[in-house]
Amino acid sequence: MNTIIGMGSNQDYRDKTPIKILNEVKDRMIESGIIINYQSAYYQSPAFPDATKPDFTNCVVEADFSGTPDQLLWEIQKLENQLGRNRNERWGQRTCDLDILGIGNLVLPSIEKFNYWASLDFSLQLNSIPNELIIPHPRIQDRAFVLKPLVSILPNWKHPVLHKTVSEMLEVLPDKAKKSVVEIN
Ligand code: AMP
Repeated sequence: MNTIIGMGSNQDYRDKTPIKILNEVKDRMIESGIIINYQSAYYQSPAFPDATKPDFTNCVVEADFSGTPDQLLWEIQKLENQLGRNRNERWGQRTCDLDILGIGNLVLPSIEKFNYWASLDFSLQLNSIPNELIIPHPRIQDRAFVLKPLVSILPNWKHPVLHKTVSEMLEVLPDKAKKSVVEIN
C-alpha cells in the first residue's frame, strides 16, 4: 500500500543542517524497515504560521512498511527523537517533524474523526494535538509544502475521504501559497 510520509526541518541539530537531518532520517528509515520507493526533491518555504522563524525544508517519500500504522507512528517518533525533536514548542523551530500523510486508501480511526480534525478552526488547530493517529493526515489538502513535493511523485494518489487527487488538491490552493514553496535541488 502507498505509505506516504512527509518530513520537515527548520533548525540545525548539532552540526547538521536541515537537509543533512532529512537525509539522515531517510537512511534511518531504511534501517527501521521502511522501504523508500520514491522520494521528492527538497523544497523550501516560509515557516508557518510564524514566518519570522527560519524557513522550512520539506520533502515527501512513498514507502512500504510491513507493520501496523501504530508501529509506523512509533518508528517515526523514534526517529524524530533521535534527531533532536523537542516536543515543547509545537509551531516553533523543529529539527525534525515527520507525519504519516496517508496509507493507501485507509481512513483511521474513522471518517467522523478525520472530518472533525480536518474541519477544526484555525485557532483550535494551533493548540490541539490528536492523541491518536489520524489517517490521512488532516491537513494535507491545506498545505502547499506537502502537496507540491507530493505532486512530483504521486500526482494521482486519491485522497480516500475528499476523493480528490494530489493534482486536484494542489490546483485549488492560492497561487501565493504555491509560489512560496520552492524546489532547492
Ligand atoms: P506533531 O506535534 O505535529 O508531530 O503531532 C504529533 C502527534 O499527532 C502524535 O503524537 C500523533 O499521535 C498525532 N498524529 C495524529 N495523526 C498523525 C499523523 N497522520 N502523522 C503523525 N502524527 C499524527
